[in-house]
Amino acid sequence: MNVLEVANLNKYFTEPVRNQVLKGVGFQVEAGEFVAITGKSGSGKSTLLYLLSTMDTDFEGSIMINGEQMKGKTNRWLAAFRNQHIGFVFQFHYLLPEFTSLENVMLPARKLGLYPKDQIEQRAMDLLKLLDVESQAAKRAALLSGGQQQRIAIARALINDPSIVMGDEPTGNLDSANSATVFGLFKELAKERQQTVLVVTHDEDFARRADRRIYMADGQIMEG
Ligand code: ADP
Ligand code: MG
Repeated sequence: MNVLEVANLNKYFTEPVRNQVLKGVGFQVEAGEFVAITGKSGSGKSTLLYLLSTMDTDFEGSIMINGEQMKGKTNRWLAAFRNQHIGFVFQFHYLLPEFTSLENVMLPARKLGLYPKDQIEQRAMDLLKLLDVESQAAKRAALLSGGQQQRIAIARALINDPSIVMGDEPTGNLDSANSATVFGLFKELAKERQQTVLVVTHDEDFARRADRRIYMADGQIMEG
């Protein structure tokens, strides 16, 4: 089954002048696939990921996630869908610095409101353990190292068990040892948890070890 189906995707920015940044992008991703998106700076990778993550709703074409069309949905619908189905990891983590690691990880699940707090807490602790930052659970996020913060951000992205996890340069801010660990975790997710992973990266090692690479140039997919 395809978790993601993109067809005829066009994106225009109008400031400072009208500029077509994505030009007829189309591809499909199966459940459990680990896909790396690479390409030169300015080729449209971040723009594409923002559309796929439903954070940008201004596009032409079709984006289907888990069989649901993203085009034409209200912001409210998209926010709920995103929280439940999509995990997103940024280059900079955007943790809430005054909250503890555990609270940061629990937040999207509290928002979803499907499970009681103790169950969410157990799940959050399991994820912190998986990411090897269990001992940091009670610490405020501001006090952690960059590598630890990024792991907390990944745990947060996974708390609602999303079917698809997206990352925009998730290791771009880490040293090579931490990058390798974080990469390994993504790989494990795809393999063992059958979660689909879609990551934009400049890291050649990272891209080589993915199941598939999508190469972008000038707003188009060259290989996928
Ligand atoms: P990448 O992530 O591959 O480096 P981006 O998706 O960030 O590329 O950018 C693709 C193109 O879109 C670039 O030419 C960039 O200048 C342009 N662009 C990105 N964001 C905006 C915006 N908010 N307004 C206008 N142009 C933008
Ligand atoms: Mg980018």
